[in-house]
Amino acid sequence: MKKKAVYPGTFDPVTYGHIDLIKRAVKIFDEVIVAVADNAAKNPLLSTSERVDLLKRAVRGMKNVKVESFSELMVDYVESKKINVVLRGLRMISDFEYEFQMALTNRKLNGNIEVIFMMPNELYSFLSSKLIKEVEVIGAELSQFLPFFVEKKLKDKLKEQLKRSKK
Ligand code: ADP
Repeated sequence: MKKKAVYPGTFDPVTYGHIDLIKRAVKIFDEVIVAVADNAAKNPLLSTSERVDLLKRAVRGMKNVKVESFSELMVDYVESKKINVVLRGLRMISDFEYEFQMALTNRKLNGNIEVIFMMPNELYSFLSSKLIKEVEVIGAELSQFLPFFVEKKLKDKLKEQLKRSKK
């Protein structure tokens, strides 16, 4: 039987840290589904379909990786795919508390699903989508953190936002 895993997240936007994790995961699992959460509560900069499109481009050419979005409870989505492994990234100790709480909450919600944590290459252990958005606003050079098409999309999006706020 094929061993599959779901890698859920907001991916607002995808960074080389996420991509590093996906590359590690496909060495272990026969199929990895990158699942973009349609979570308006997090107030993402990019729409769900924009985040999915960018991820699809980022994993193009990688075998056994699929990109989807989901809007139901994460454990319900994973169960509906008949998968019982969820992947999450751990960058630093600071991620630990949040991830630990979430993993245990999810275990209460569905005891059949195991969460597996993976560490990215240390080059990316400081990288976060949140910080990327903050430095993008002040015009930082981001090519070492993100594929060029992700950076372009962010720039366009921020310009669009700025225009709207001036109206
Ligand atoms: P969240 O799902 O918590 O809203 P993200 O979309 O940023 O946030 O992250 C999805 C998953 O990828 C989380 O497990 C997060 O810890 C992990 N992650 C985020 N950035 C990196 C990175 N630079 N390297 C490795 N994993 C990361």
